[in-house]
Amino acid sequence: MEKKLIITIDGPAGAGKSTVSKMLAKQLNYIYLDTGALYRALAYKIIISKISLDDISAIADLCSSTKVHLENLDGRMKVFVDGDDVEERIRTEEVGLAASKISTYAVVRARLLDLQRGASAYGGIIAEGRDMGSVVFPDADHKFYLDAKLEARIGRRYKELLEKHPSA
Ligand code: C5P
Repeated sequence: MEKKLIITIDGPAGAGKSTVSKMLAKQLNYIYLDTGALYRALAYKIIISKISLDDISAIADLCSSTKVHLENLDGRMKVFVDGDDVEERIRTEEVGLAASKISTYAVVRARLLDLQRGASAYGGIIAEGRDMGSVVFPDADHKFYLDAKLEARIGRRYKELLEKHPSA
């Protein structure tokens, strides 16, 4: 039987990681692991729990009491928080900014480590996000670092924002 690989794609914001990861996952019939969604899931829970993003101790408690799980739906992992499908709710700018902030906390990164590693149990995966090749899957079969010119990265990010807020 063909060996299912672990492929990691790391790189800065706006480099096109998700686009490339989704294409690759489709092409290879692999699962696309969007790790940013996990950070967003915890950020979402912190926001709805009205916990300050600076309150590391409360965030640490929330990390241990919150159930985050992944389900494989047609090759894409969907994220659930305490049993609720939060896919739509985590895609806001507010949640993205909060995710960016809390992703700098070691307790948050540690909380999501096993969850991300566990996703490889589903077979071939394209794991996209920071630390994928270095920390989460150091033994990955292939590791890519995707970058782009600053103007291209800014342009892509701007386009994303316009799509979310057409009247802005
Ligand atoms: O990619 P996305 O915008 O969904 O990620 C949300 C935030 O989570 C980003 O700001 C990123 O810094 C953080 N993140 C991270 N490590 C990952 C994936 C995302 O720190 N593996």
